[in-house]
Amino acid sequence: MNTDDNLESDTMTNKLKNIRTTLEQMKKHLTVNIDKSKPDSDSGSDIPEDNTSVKKDEVSNITMDMERRLALKHQMNNSLVIVERALQKIDDGSYGICDNCKKPIDPARMEALPHSIFCWICSSTCGK
Ligand SMILES: [Zn+2]
Repeated sequence: MNTDDNLESDTMTNKLKNIRTTLEQMKKHLTVNIDKSKPDSDSGSDIPEDNTSVKKDEVSNITMDMERRLALKHQMNNSLVIVERALQKIDDGSYGICDNCKKPIDPARMEALPHSIFCWICSSTCGK
């Protein structure tokens, strides 16, 4: 059990606390989903063992499905890295500051995407 000190004096602290909770929920959600997408954790439920009974079309469908899942997993892994970085930024006091140009991130962006670690400009230039 986590018994946090109750710092209810500062609204900013409370705000960060809420954001942290949101981010931790996101992290938990991502971790669970990434874990679920591991091939060994679900004992090949949708992929038949003997491919002999499967038509060629179905095989390629399965391949596509696996590729899609891999892409999704990759995406989730990336998101997890960003969410973890955002949590780290709350801890080191750089939350709301762009990781790239070190300028404050637009509060509207932080509001919309609480896990933002880059400003609009940097995120569009570096593609993150
Ligand atoms: Zn920036």
